[in-house]
Amino acid sequence: MDLAAAATHPGRTTPIADRTQLFIGGRWTAPHGTGVIAVEDPTTEQVIAHVPAGDTVDVDRAVAAAKAAFGPWSALAPAERAAFLDRLHAALSARAEDVAATVARELGTPLRIATKVQAGLPLTVLRSYVELAGQPESTHTVGNSLIVGEPVGVVGAITPWNYPLHQIMAKVAGALAAGCTVVLKPADLTPLVAYLLFDAIEEAGLPAGVANLVTGPGSVVGSAIAAHPDVDMVSFTGSTAVGARISHLAADRIARVALELGGKSANVILEDADLPRAVKTGVANAFLNSGQTCTAWTRMLVHRPRYEEALAIAAEAAAGQTLGDPFDRGTRLGPLASAAQRETVRGYIAQGLADGARLIAGGLDAPVPDRGHFVAATVLADVDPDSTVAQEEIFGPVLVVIPFDSDEEAVAIANNSRYGLAGAVWSGDEDRALAVARRLRTGAVDVNGGAFNPLAPFGGFKQSGIGRELGRHGLDEFLETKAIQR
Ligand code: NAD
Repeated sequence: MDLAAAATHPGRTTPIADRTQLFIGGRWTAPHGTGVIAVEDPTTEQVIAHVPAGDTVDVDRAVAAAKAAFGPWSALAPAERAAFLDRLHAALSARAEDVAATVARELGTPLRIATKVQAGLPLTVLRSYVELAGQPESTHTVGNSLIVGEPVGVVGAITPWNYPLHQIMAKVAGALAAGCTVVLKPADLTPLVAYLLFDAIEEAGLPAGVANLVTGPGSVVGSAIAAHPDVDMVSFTGSTAVGARISHLAADRIARVALELGGKSANVILEDADLPRAVKTGVANAFLNSGQTCTAWTRMLVHRPRYEEALAIAAEAAAGQTLGDPFDRGTRLGPLASAAQRETVRGYIAQGLADGARLIAGGLDAPVPDRGHFVAATVLADVDPDSTVAQEEIFGPVLVVIPFDSDEEAVAIANNSRYGLAGAVWSGDEDRALAVARRLRTGAVDVNGGAFNPLAPFGGFKQSGIGRELGRHGLDEFLETKAIQR
């Protein structure tokens, strides 16, 4: 570890300016709301900047701007919209280092990972939507009907803090590519990266009102967006509880919703798997971004004959999850996003141990830095599949391990969840792994370490959500279907 280098890293020492305006109707605008949100660095526990807390008047203004912009934006030729998004890609690419450092500050993701995932992935997603936006309108015929897709209208986008720019981009780029206009409310914990995006939107010269930014509390700004009569669709990523609340608000006016919610995904390791690879990949996946990942494989299911062997590998891999400053090159595990998140996660660890789990790594007494919202990488074994830590999304660096005796039982345990977002299967026999993968009630499964595909549909079964993001499926979420008979 090189603490001195981390402390003097320009990403850590460069001051971040307060933001005092919202982006509405194509320009930076004074908010009507008079409050401010203090943004904390979870590593140092210092406030690093402030942003405005907008109010319902700000939402009204932003929605009116998006509504006025919808007609002209949706009427552009696909190639024209693609050219705007291409300019946005260039403007955001120029800010990639700033994006990575900003997320390392406001969220605590280690810089190396932030560079790849928090800054790189949104650019990949935006690039894919530049390509999709430019493709000719996809129409087809059914008998005497011409079937066309038309943009749904004004999209209200409400996003969480764990992959703050990626989650924004999956909505904003998809909606804009489809011909919709957007009002965005980013998470209160991580609004600074959203400001960088809107700096890029301004520089790219997107037409006024096409994309609008209103920061503020979910209970005020988020609710007002979800309930607004001129918002045609609400696209939400966050917790299942808030997703349900937003669905109720949208249902009152029959507005469309897309929900990307929580997860408790299973990593199923069959007895003929490459065990070291399956376990090490599984541990790294569970602890990515300090476990604050909706798709994290937080339940590791291992065939009983190889269970103890797997636990030994998992303990060693967890011990390699070095805690520290996100700007230290040796850091694998940054802090959790907030003090509240840390306390919640510690509570789950205590609950798991009280319910009889065996502590394999980490735990409440493991050493952590003096300052910052850190929790050590924790592995709990012998976990009852029905217990709290096996059922609830912990959203921290806590992996539970559960043994099984047959493929049948593995599928039953994996599907014993109210969530269904992601998962994995490992086997020396790909057909066997695919057969298990097909039986998992979940929106995505990686077989033998299959790589994340940013063009594949992303979303959940059951309480993990409604709808899909990314790629063609993601764009289609923002289209209405029309049949024209001839
Ligand atoms: P959250 O639900 O608390 O907040 C998400 C967003 O909703 C924030 O912008 C928040 O301000 C806003 N909000 C809060 N209350 C609101 C209300 N009453 N009305 C309208 N908006 C409101 O979630 P979070 O803590 O920011 O994020 C963590 C959660 O997000 C986890 O459950 C995680 O699994 C989930 N998540 C899901 C995905 C996915 O794609 N499925 C991706 C990332 C995170």
